[in-house]
Amino acid sequence: MSDLKQTYKTTCSYCGVGCGIEITRNGRDRLNLSGDQCHPVNKGMLCSKGMNLHYTAMDRSDRLMYPHMRGNKGYPLEKTTWDTAMQRAARVFKTLIDRHGPDSVGFYVSGQCLTEEYYLVNKLVKGFLGTNNIDTNSRLCMSSAVAGYKQALGEDSVPIAYEDIELADCFLIAGANPAWCHPILFRRLEAHKAKNPDTKIIVVDPRVTDTCQSADLHLQIMPGTDMVLFHAIGRCLIDNGHIDEEFILNHTDGFNLYRKEVMKMTLKEAAAICRVSVDEIKLAANYIGRSKGFITMWAMGLNQSTQGVNKNLALLNLNLITGHIGKPGSGPFSLTGQPNAMGGREVGGMANLLAVHKDLANPQHRQEVADFWKVDKIREEPGLTATKMFEALRDGKMKAIWIICTNPSVSMPNARLVDEALSNASFVVVQDISERSDTAKYADMLLPAASWLEKEGTMTNSERRISHLSQVIEPPGEALPDSEIICRFAQAMGFHGFDFKSAEEIYSEYCELTKGSSIDISGLSYERLKKEGTVQWPVYDSNHAGTSRLFTDHKFYTPNQRAQIKINAPGVAAEPVSSDYPLILTTGRIRDQWHTMTKTGKVNKLNKHLPNPFLELHPVDAAARGIGDGDPVVISNHRGEVRVNAVITTNIKPGVVFLPMHWGKLLGQDFGRANNLTDDSIDPVSKQPGFKFSAVEVKKY
Ligand code: SF4
Repeated sequence: MSDLKQTYKTTCSYCGVGCGIEITRNGRDRLNLSGDQCHPVNKGMLCSKGMNLHYTAMDRSDRLMYPHMRGNKGYPLEKTTWDTAMQRAARVFKTLIDRHGPDSVGFYVSGQCLTEEYYLVNKLVKGFLGTNNIDTNSRLCMSSAVAGYKQALGEDSVPIAYEDIELADCFLIAGANPAWCHPILFRRLEAHKAKNPDTKIIVVDPRVTDTCQSADLHLQIMPGTDMVLFHAIGRCLIDNGHIDEEFILNHTDGFNLYRKEVMKMTLKEAAAICRVSVDEIKLAANYIGRSKGFITMWAMGLNQSTQGVNKNLALLNLNLITGHIGKPGSGPFSLTGQPNAMGGREVGGMANLLAVHKDLANPQHRQEVADFWKVDKIREEPGLTATKMFEALRDGKMKAIWIICTNPSVSMPNARLVDEALSNASFVVVQDISERSDTAKYADMLLPAASWLEKEGTMTNSERRISHLSQVIEPPGEALPDSEIICRFAQAMGFHGFDFKSAEEIYSEYCELTKGSSIDISGLSYERLKKEGTVQWPVYDSNHAGTSRLFTDHKFYTPNQRAQIKINAPGVAAEPVSSDYPLILTTGRIRDQWHTMTKTGKVNKLNKHLPNPFLELHPVDAAARGIGDGDPVVISNHRGEVRVNAVITTNIKPGVVFLPMHWGKLLGQDFGRANNLTDDSIDPVSKQPGFKFSAVEVKKY
């Protein structure tokens, strides 16, 4: 790399909004960062996290720079060479697979991996190791949305684009706080409403969040009652004749069953369950029914539930019965939590998925991918999903885990089970940028990965927009791009098909596989991405401009090309509150922190916003327990406890408490690790855990 001043284009590596960033490298070490004025997503704007991203790249105080491994359990980690580490890892994996079968090993990766890395690790595991035990932290984030889209629309396909925001006149935002968690997208929505004051924003959330400040109506429901609310709104839309009968008749199945189901409950009954008023439900339905463009937006409040898929479907149904899909300013829009969760889904980065939206259960699809990778077969049985993987490790059924770019010791529900699992595993490989993550201390092998700005690749944001990320600086020490580490391990295992010379070669192979699929990007080369900027898939050939909106012909990806208005059997009930644990704990993000704070926690400016973990508690619940504002409290249930200070606020409903999810352990003590308490029960279809509903008690200490 030269010392001259150079400007590079890249993409923010935090949320799924996917803002464009320009980095100017001045000499070897100085980096200046600004929003990319020409980027169609953010047009130069960045939020507090994005604006400070370069500090995390420049602060190398905790960077892991060399491979380390321990000779045996209980021995200290010692620096080693890449060759020694890869030979040892290959020996251990071969031995475990020979002795216990391929399902004795697994990989747990991340929605922050670049598409090339995600593609390669899936090829390695599903094609060559002979197991489907590869899951990702996207399981904790978007898997309910994936399953909802597949059931309703036939494939995991976000139908709309950000440009639809400026074309809509009604938004229903459920279980999401985009003002804090997807800020630039929300700024677009605020600007649109400022210009068009008649635009209606309905927010559905048990808490009063910053997003509510822009809302025309806040439906402050009890946690877990979303489906009842959406069905009640559906009933009102039918009663008022605010449905699109032509669309329903010609392009959907299932409406009669839906109508029968939503008519079973009166509005009064629904209002009592949700703890909102009948008038509020009617008003929401009225806003939606009178709109010309209606967008539903949602995030973890719906997805992180043991009823996550059903909640997704109940919301999607509101778009389908009103015909608000496949036309400007209309459609369902899942807000992706991570920068490349979408790219990961495209390459089949989950235990139950296959690359390019092919179906793991379909023998022809499996053979097509196997032939492409030049392997005999891909196993039919889905692999272990995130929570099941750690349970299998704890129980000794899985022996080794390779963790890439994620910190499950803090981020998984019922985190103490994860600690137990990692302590019990025969072999733990942690591939990360930081030597200080809570998970790193369980590693038998620590592998130094290159970070944002230190490698090249692509990502896909929430609206299917693919962007290219440039390498700007060299990785420190002997850190390597994740894709190169995967190739080195595959070669040490003796596998062919991993001799890529660059990220571009990996991307080209993946593009070739997409040919003819619904997510075809065979017309989108690195050269084109660098020259033209970002493009939304599908992109069928080199002259194709990309696709901003799907289903404009109202032909869906289902076998009969009709959207499915679905009412499924109930999923798994959330854990009940009891006299011992009478409060419902819900968890979430704060404005200036990201995931488990391994990056944002290093930036002083970001730590100033809310420097410590806290518990939000309603005054009625606080008074009943003699708790005052700022008092130290212990929140507990049968899984564990958390000690933080109380914030007494009417922003939360009585009977509900809120903890931010970012903090882990401090100085070896559990301090604010919300996931000590969260329930690891999962949705039966999506296998996504129900983080948002755990029974707890709170006491002053
Ligand atoms: Fe980054 Fe998301 Fe903020 Fe954009 S909105 S700058 S992608 S964190």
